[in-house]
Amino acid sequence: MVRSSVLGYPRIGEDREWKKALEGFWSGKFEEAEFHRQLQEIRLNHLRKQQEKGIDLIAVNDFSYYDHVLDTATMFGIIPKRFSYKGGVVPLSIYYGIARGTKDATASEMTKWFNTNYHYIVPELSEASPVLTENKPLLAYREAKEKLGVEGKPVIVGPLTFLKLSKGYSLSETDTWLSRLLPLYVQVLQELAAEGVQWVQIDEPILVTKLSAADLQRLKSIYETFAASVPNLNIMLQTYFESIENYSDIVALPVKGIGLDLVQGLSGNISSLKTLGFPEDKVLGAGVIDGRGIWKAELGEKRVLLEELAEFVTAERIIVQSSCSLLHVPVTTKHETKLVNELKDALAFADEKLDELVLLTKAVSQGGSEITAILEENDHAIEPLKLSGERNRSDIQNAVFAISAQNPERSHPFSERHLAQQNKWQLPILPTTTIGSFPQSPEVRKARQQWRKGEWNSEQYAAFIREQIDIWIKLQEEIGLDVLVHGEFERTDMVEFFGEKLAGFAFTQNGWVQSYGSRCVKPPVIFGDVAFKGAMTVEETKYAQSRTERPVKGMLTGPITILNWSFVREDITREQIAYQLAYALRHEVEALEQAGIGMIQVDEPAVREGLPLKEEEHEKYLAWAVKAFRMATCTVQETTQIHTHMCYCEFHDMINSIEEMDADVISIETSRSHGELIHSFELNTYKLGIGLGVYDIHSPRIPYVEEMTSMIERALRVLDPKLFWINPDCGLKTRGLKETVDSLRNMVEATQIARAKY
Ligand code: GLN
Ligand code: ZN
Repeated sequence: MVRSSVLGYPRIGEDREWKKALEGFWSGKFEEAEFHRQLQEIRLNHLRKQQEKGIDLIAVNDFSYYDHVLDTATMFGIIPKRFSYKGGVVPLSIYYGIARGTKDATASEMTKWFNTNYHYIVPELSEASPVLTENKPLLAYREAKEKLGVEGKPVIVGPLTFLKLSKGYSLSETDTWLSRLLPLYVQVLQELAAEGVQWVQIDEPILVTKLSAADLQRLKSIYETFAASVPNLNIMLQTYFESIENYSDIVALPVKGIGLDLVQGLSGNISSLKTLGFPEDKVLGAGVIDGRGIWKAELGEKRVLLEELAEFVTAERIIVQSSCSLLHVPVTTKHETKLVNELKDALAFADEKLDELVLLTKAVSQGGSEITAILEENDHAIEPLKLSGERNRSDIQNAVFAISAQNPERSHPFSERHLAQQNKWQLPILPTTTIGSFPQSPEVRKARQQWRKGEWNSEQYAAFIREQIDIWIKLQEEIGLDVLVHGEFERTDMVEFFGEKLAGFAFTQNGWVQSYGSRCVKPPVIFGDVAFKGAMTVEETKYAQSRTERPVKGMLTGPITILNWSFVREDITREQIAYQLAYALRHEVEALEQAGIGMIQVDEPAVREGLPLKEEEHEKYLAWAVKAFRMATCTVQETTQIHTHMCYCEFHDMINSIEEMDADVISIETSRSHGELIHSFELNTYKLGIGLGVYDIHSPRIPYVEEMTSMIERALRVLDPKLFWINPDCGLKTRGLKETVDSLRNMVEATQIARAKY
């Protein structure tokens, strides 16, 4: 019998009840006992749903109070000293302290979970003395069994992945750490085996990256240890997000099952299967239902794929799975009432994917005309979207085809543009500016609400926005900034704002996914050809410029950032979508220029987020990302100054690509990794205008003048003062008014001190 399996289910709940519970508890709305009760209810609901749909192997311990990597760390007592942990079960105050910080101790770092938009808490090994504080997978297993009669499949982050994602140790200490952790893992597994657990899913997504010979050796010893300690426990060694490297080594490990991603990792994994076969003593976890994308699967094709697999693996050794945890997709399409039918009919979120898994499993294990008819009906539902006018705009496709055949290039090289711009703008040395947004005060948010609810008409709202612009243009002049911005008061979110004004986008009502902790995002859906419909930012920018003699910088979100922060169609490549976005944005850039705006910033904070997991694919991705940016910005006059902005650190390995974007000025977040970035500029001789953020906007603390002067001085030891700009790290929309003004005043003062020396 072929079985179905889910690798993990979203935590947040249909109505984000998980988020509400967490935030309610944090704000003291209810006591801990009530909080546990609420989370248990949510957790059991999720299991019940999967049980009722008929999933055979349901993951338990996928649920979390915040993040599953943090759960693993606290389970092993890996708690930074600053939280004064006294042993025993880790109290929630410490658990949430590590995640969010306390008044006495800073939070642990948070970073991206592979190439997803989920962020985990980075375990800090340095000061830890690992012990098993509580067998969480066991508790989850018992709960599911006792409350629902579910024979759960405990899931746990594997040792190699856990070590690789942790920090606070040097390479030479890896084996020492492994030898500390391994006995704890063994204890967890032995207790599970003693309880009668049948399957355990050990997640090792790190296996899709290149491993050193030493790591392969470690992998081998980890799974040999497990095989020796729990010989009767079925271990599913689960990988996802790409195809596995080192296929032969991995499938030879002494585990019962190997889980492969047959969506993102399809071509690599299939070719390994075909050329190298699959061991006869193992079960294949065939991840054929996309755990990352929001689209319905073409079940007919998936069935064919599964039948092909039967050439390598006999049917009873196949488990039909999601390609990864469903954590990365929204919960259900059920409550989407506002989408056009052709779109809604083509979507499958987590719950709909459960149905797909069950259907597909039935189709391959039983077959029959009834099930075939259901599969066909499913595949039919996708047709109208494929054929829709919005997906097939020849005007857009032809235009984008034509411009993508050219090399997008400014009319003059930077050296000439720089002189022309210098002449035109007459800016002082070390010009000062900001990144775009100013504080979104409660007033601003309230105004937007009133307008959205229809209590205010558009003119009232527009008048309010103009007032805000007036206030901030005055403030910026008073503070003494050289290049001003309008403040982005009309925008909630830098992607949604543009998506709402472009063709090809749709917005769900409830398509939330967890980004980190209780924070959820609702990415727009790019379902059709993207097209410019009319000016998006000209009115506010032009208004701002009319209120001042100083230059006002227009503010747009770039093609790659819009792409990487949206759910996108899959019938054309991401590269194609990026070019469509670039073409649309080019219209906006030109409209701004025509309206007299001579400086235009096109933000690309999310370029890095699109980097493929496989290193050998980085270059190709970066090449089209750079091309898309240039496509959007290359048609302006030489005197028009193109700015860009990037944040979320770690750009040091991308400086060449950043340079190729050919923006006249780039501002980069650096206050959190200043030294490192400066160092990479030393090696690179960056030749365009650049502002390295001189203070961290993520903190409410007002930076001292001296801190910023020393930062400027350090940067100027490496970078040309004639090309250097002074600005904060990122946009200021989350900050308060007073701290923003005070910080910027100090920044201008620091600049004046620095200018005196050049
Ligand atoms: N212009 C945007 C702002 O200032 C940039 C935001 C970002 O980099 N994330 O808010
Ligand atoms: Zn930023």
